[in-house]
Amino acid sequence: MSLPVVAIIGRPNVGKSTLVNRLAGVQDAIVHDEPGVTRDRTYRSAFWEDREFVIVDTGGLVFNDDTEFLPLIREQAMLALSEASAAIFVVDGQSGLTAADETIADWLRQQPVPVLLAVNKCESSEQGLTQAIEFWELGLGEPFPVSGIHGSGTGELLDALITYIVPAEEIPQTEEIKVAIVGRPNVGKSSLLNAFVGENRSIVSPISGTTRDAIDMLVERNGKTYRLIDTAGIRKKKNVEYGPEFFGINRAFKAIRRADVVLLVIDAVDGITEQDQKLAGRIDEEGRACVIVINKWDAVEKDSYTIYEFERNFKGRLNFIDWAETIFVSAQTGQRVEKILDLVNTAAEQHKRRVTTAVINEVLQEAISWVSPPTTRQGRQGKIYYGTQVSSQPPAIALFVNDPKRFNDNYRRYIEGQFRKQLGFTGTPVRLFWRGKKVREMEAGSRSNRATRV
Ligand code: GDP
Ligand code: GDP
Repeated sequence: MSLPVVAIIGRPNVGKSTLVNRLAGVQDAIVHDEPGVTRDRTYRSAFWEDREFVIVDTGGLVFNDDTEFLPLIREQAMLALSEASAAIFVVDGQSGLTAADETIADWLRQQPVPVLLAVNKCESSEQGLTQAIEFWELGLGEPFPVSGIHGSGTGELLDALITYIVPAEEIPQTEEIKVAIVGRPNVGKSSLLNAFVGENRSIVSPISGTTRDAIDMLVERNGKTYRLIDTAGIRKKKNVEYGPEFFGINRAFKAIRRADVVLLVIDAVDGITEQDQKLAGRIDEEGRACVIVINKWDAVEKDSYTIYEFERNFKGRLNFIDWAETIFVSAQTGQRVEKILDLVNTAAEQHKRRVTTAVINEVLQEAISWVSPPTTRQGRQGKIYYGTQVSSQPPAIALFVNDPKRFNDNYRRYIEGQFRKQLGFTGTPVRLFWRGKKVREMEAGSRSNRATRV
């Protein structure tokens, strides 16, 4: 399930990031920060009353100026808007209405997304109302005077905002599996895409208006729909605008974030490179399911052992995602290409899987019986009271223990290994949280509370 998105739009310096901090609450962790060619685009989770959503700060929007990164930032804003349930357009109440605000408003009025107008820097409520009045001219409805710094007016803004946010329980559970195809240039991503989609069988679903934007394609097989993410990014040949060395890693990172399952495509002839490892690391960090696709298998000279040697070698070098299944294909001849989707199905199912508390504790009891938790030098022994799955996509299991510090890395790895061995979770990362039972509320951020990967 993905939460509704609220895009924050506005020219630079009107106080967008300040307002985002305010709306998301300072205690909230940044969901993601994406450094790169464009200004960081941050995703933060927020809630108001019973509605949960994600706020995306789009970076300062500037039209009529094509210097350097500005077109890219614009593209970011358009992308953010295309996935948004609502937008908050932030203007500066102290500097008043500007021509740039009008340009942005003209553009926003053409978008099929509800827009709320926040007039920021209105600390004084009386003066704020006066400051806000002139923004009626933008034709975007009622201007809300707010102060990102003081927090005033933000309650009214949020009250209006949540009328556009569907309650979490009403978000439809789509059958669609979102698949990102990522890999270095020339590994065969476009060839693979063509093999899936065919020349004419594609259903193109542009998620935004211009050709530069991300385009998803829908592919249907056996009653299932696969959304292939950002196929424009895959097809964009040789990244002319950045020069031939440009890897497009930020675009790949974005696709990874939107995906349920990532196809990490690797060139069988070249083997694993540092860039492949970087992508693998990100897939694990983002908690996405993954299938490792070794392409150009037709071009490898092989005997009956080759496949095992490759597998061993590749797995070792992609240890971040040693839980992922590997498939050897040829996008060119079509060999095993359709089988990739079987592995995608498995990975997607495991990624969403929920295991009952009874089963988790059965595995735990069994594991503890074989190897007891370690005892510290002072003679205190670790105790695991119980475990329970706290979330899915990816599956996360919390273990409630007497004192997380009594469990060394060795023992943690052992328990992790037992979960994998007994429960499988093929193709998906699994997170384990070790929590002290008495102090668990106070532990946020401490090492013992951090997830370890399985
Ligand atoms: P962004 O570029 O739109 O993200 O703007 P920032 O959040 O970085 O803020 C730009 C400047 O406006 C900073 O100097 C902030 O301190 C100031 N600012 C932001 N919100 C407010 C506000 O509510 N009141 C006042 N007076 N200044 C603000
Ligand atoms: P992309 O940059 O990752 O999208 O890679 P392309 O799909 O454009 O493929 C790069 C090159 O590898 C092209 O010359 C393809 O013909 C070739 N190629 C792609 N898949 C295969 C394959 O399975 N076997 C062989 N031998 N060549 C392939």
